[in-house]
Amino acid sequence: MNERDSEAVAAQLVAKGYSLAPAEGTADVVLLNTCSVRDAAEQKAIGKMHGLAAEVRRHRPNVVLGFMGCMAQSRGQALLDRLPDVDLVVGTQKFHRTAEYLDEIFSGKRNKICDVGEEEGSEATIREHILAGNARTRSVTAFVSIMQGCNQYCTFCIVPYTRGQERSRTIPDIVGECRELAARGVKEITLLGQIVTSYGKREIGVRDGRSAFVQLLEAVHEIEGLQRIRFTSPHPKGYGDDLVEAYGRLPKLCESAHIPVQSGSDRILKLMHRGYTRAGCLAIIQKLRRIQPRIGITTDIIVGFPGETENDFEATLSLAQEAEFDNAYIFKYSPRKDTPAATMPDQVPQEIKEERNQRLLNVVNEIGAGKYEAQVGKCVEILVEGPSRRNPARLQGRTRTNKIVVFEGSERQIGQLLDLKIHRTGSFTLYGDPAIVNLDIDNSLSQ
Ligand code: SF4
Repeated sequence: MNERDSEAVAAQLVAKGYSLAPAEGTADVVLLNTCSVRDAAEQKAIGKMHGLAAEVRRHRPNVVLGFMGCMAQSRGQALLDRLPDVDLVVGTQKFHRTAEYLDEIFSGKRNKICDVGEEEGSEATIREHILAGNARTRSVTAFVSIMQGCNQYCTFCIVPYTRGQERSRTIPDIVGECRELAARGVKEITLLGQIVTSYGKREIGVRDGRSAFVQLLEAVHEIEGLQRIRFTSPHPKGYGDDLVEAYGRLPKLCESAHIPVQSGSDRILKLMHRGYTRAGCLAIIQKLRRIQPRIGITTDIIVGFPGETENDFEATLSLAQEAEFDNAYIFKYSPRKDTPAATMPDQVPQEIKEERNQRLLNVVNEIGAGKYEAQVGKCVEILVEGPSRRNPARLQGRTRTNKIVVFEGSERQIGQLLDLKIHRTGSFTLYGDPAIVNLDIDNSLSQ
């Protein structure tokens, strides 16, 4: 989400005549897009700003320094008061005003600006993209923001306070943006939101037994040239039969589902205000595997939520074993100011959180490694995205089940769907050979 917001702000500035600086040391404007989901992320952003003020500002006093995003939203004016080098604070509903505020600062009209207000219609303002243009780095995947905010109020989460109430864009508006991206060469779109499965609940509602989110998937699916659709982040409650059934019916919808279970203990799920049970989650996973047996399923889990006993934690361990996730993102509970869980009794000591984190990691890593091992010798379809992050001499792509595959290839294959044979695995990475040359390559070779 933050990557996408940053891209939209950068695109807005480029449209106004700014250009992207190769490094912060040469930039005239440095904006840090911030996350509030854990305290460590906030401390990192503040530390980074201190560093920028000391380094960049010392040599180039007119550089504009600013914060945007969730921490900007929650701390607002306090950031200007605490960090005198900061000029601009832009909240989560004000990203589209960044260029205007920079103009005011550069022209001397205003010295410092903090805007963290609410703004009607702001959910539809994250729409401009910067797509890399050259053959080696061209963008073949893109994120599209479909909604902002969340009404779920999980007791550990700060998002409803930093991103506001759920607000959804219209289907034609989103489809228009996706269509433009497809015309510019994008092959895969990830629909984005804090809780995408709640998309359009109030604005659009259920039609013919299909939730607004499924209606949106169907509309995006119609776009010519687009080959793959993904979405993040959903809520387990949102995997109704209509969505499960869409996985069997919409071929562009990739066989990949993120189901953030958070805990395997019903008692803890209730304290978290998640609105589902362990059995409910397992039933969804079962239904998804019935309709798409090879589907890749990932999850988020919090360990050490207030009141979590050894028994509760063991329920999480056993859920991870039963669900057999392809991968799991595990977080040690981090109290967030003004959220109900921060003041709940029986906060779990840090060393117990660390220990549970490690035990759970061992379990999910072992299961994940087995899932990746099982791919060896198999043929998989990947969308070739570009140079591998670790070794740019190689290319990387993603399977429909959302696994990264690295292989030796040529630039010409970027943007193509390619069949690869997997010959080995690394840590949550597959390595393949284009042993089976697909039709697209045959055609391009003969031209
Ligand atoms: S559903 Fe997700 S974004 Fe919304 S409050 Fe819960 S954890 Fe936060």
